[in-house]
Amino acid sequence: MTLLAAAQADFPLHMPVIVAGGGACGLVAALAAHDAGAEVVVIERDPVPRGSTSMSLGAVCASGTADQRRLGVDDDAERFAADVMEKTRGTADLALARTVGQLSGEAVDWLREAHGVELSLDPNWPPAFGHSRMRMHVSPGRSGTDLMDRLLAACDRAGIPIVTSATLESLFVEGKRVTGVRYARPDGSREDIGCGALILATCGFGGNHAMIAKHIPAMREARYFGWEGNQGDGILLGEAMGAALADMDAYQGLGLLAEPAGIDLNPRFLIEGGVQVNRLGQRFSNELDDVSGQGARVIAQPGSMAWVIYDERIHRSCFDLPQYVALREVGGVQSADTLDALASRAGIDPAGLAETLAAIPHGEADAWGRRFDTPPLAPPFHAVRVSGALFHTQGGLAIDTGGRVLDEEGNPFPNLLAGGGAARGISGRGPSGYLPGAGLSSAIALGLACGRTAATLA
Ligand SMILES: Cc1cc2nc3c(=O)[nH]c(=O)nc-3n(C[C@H](O)[C@H](O)[C@H](O)COP(=O)(O)OP(=O)(O)OC[C@H]3O[C@@H](n4cnc5c(N)ncnc54)[C@H](O)[C@@H]3O)c2cc1C
Repeated sequence: MTLLAAAQADFPLHMPVIVAGGGACGLVAALAAHDAGAEVVVIERDPVPRGSTSMSLGAVCASGTADQRRLGVDDDAERFAADVMEKTRGTADLALARTVGQLSGEAVDWLREAHGVELSLDPNWPPAFGHSRMRMHVSPGRSGTDLMDRLLAACDRAGIPIVTSATLESLFVEGKRVTGVRYARPDGSREDIGCGALILATCGFGGNHAMIAKHIPAMREARYFGWEGNQGDGILLGEAMGAALADMDAYQGLGLLAEPAGIDLNPRFLIEGGVQVNRLGQRFSNELDDVSGQGARVIAQPGSMAWVIYDERIHRSCFDLPQYVALREVGGVQSADTLDALASRAGIDPAGLAETLAAIPHGEADAWGRRFDTPPLAPPFHAVRVSGALFHTQGGLAIDTGGRVLDEEGNPFPNLLAGGGAARGISGRGPSGYLPGAGLSSAIALGLACGRTAATLA
């Protein structure tokens, strides 16, 4: 990752807007710049754009959408921002939280109306884990792969070129202005393009072990279950230009990575009344208060493992989830008619499990503050063994509400923008500020902001 003097450049091609990174943020930014009248190109490291977006459950939290209004959900950017500030204990950037609240809704409606990318409110995701309103939106295929396919098809229809197998490695700069980029090809050759504005959408640094050890040392040894190509390249280039970094210790973890299949289990199993126990059959937390921090809690259990225990009602209610279908196909779900048999099959202490389930108070809060308003678990029972993992980093380049990267003094660079995992998100500090759906929400909302701003600057 290097900076080169603009005087060294001899660009064979100049594009008003270049987007580096073809995940949800980059593709939405490209569509937004295109709709605002700018010619735009996306450069993407991989032969096929996939990114963390394709690994995700594809669930986007968004407020003030047409779908919410249609279903009578009273939500807006202020309520969204209030939830963010409460979940992050005031450590998130309020202006950014309001912007994501506002633009997430706008983006969901605009993607559907202008580009045929369907994202609908999912009534199976009740408000939980810090959301006070039903605001999770999913594409028809209910997966990140499906969302990526739809965004790529939209770019194709819009005639937006995507240069694949092109790894951004250097910026040409003149003072604080970016005049162009250099990217590397798999055969070792290099190509340069000049630009009017550059959007960094290269995601976070989860795949960069040295950066994790520096910024999130507590997760240094944790399994990383995000896109390996997310090496923090955009963040490192911005930093080299003198950009400020923010919330670098923030991350999205999850304690629901099914083992050994490596498939993430939807939090719906817990929302619907399931529990998480350790090898001794004991619960160890309020499973519904911190979807991200639960990753570290699972890692802290004996053997760094836990099990999600649920019943037939929950099992059947999750048949629509493609990840669950895949998990069942590979034999990742243990089932039995009695708790005792389930515990023996799964390798959990039977007496501990029976005692734990018998102790759940229905209709009132338990020792960790969780209220079970769902029916008591009834046979037959099911179990999935899970581990905790680091999914996605949440800190990055400091930006203003238009996506412009800020320097150490808080001044925007003239034509450098960032969004999605490359920019600071709305999760505040540490592991516990992450709200479900906030990763894609930031990617899409800030992609929209960056695309619009870049078109104006270019
Ligand atoms: C297992 C898992 C489940 C998740 N589930 C959810 C969920 O349900 N809801 C939610 O909101 N969030 C979820 N997340 C988080 C979400 O996936 C991310 O927040 C989001 O995808 C980030 O989008 P992005 O466009 O910034 O990054 P990405 O989608 O990762 O795209 C970045 C792109 O940049 C490319 N790139 C990197 N470096 C370079 C370079 N130097 N040059 C060119 N290209 C480069 C990469 O190849 C990649 O294609 C999940 C994450 C994981 C790992």
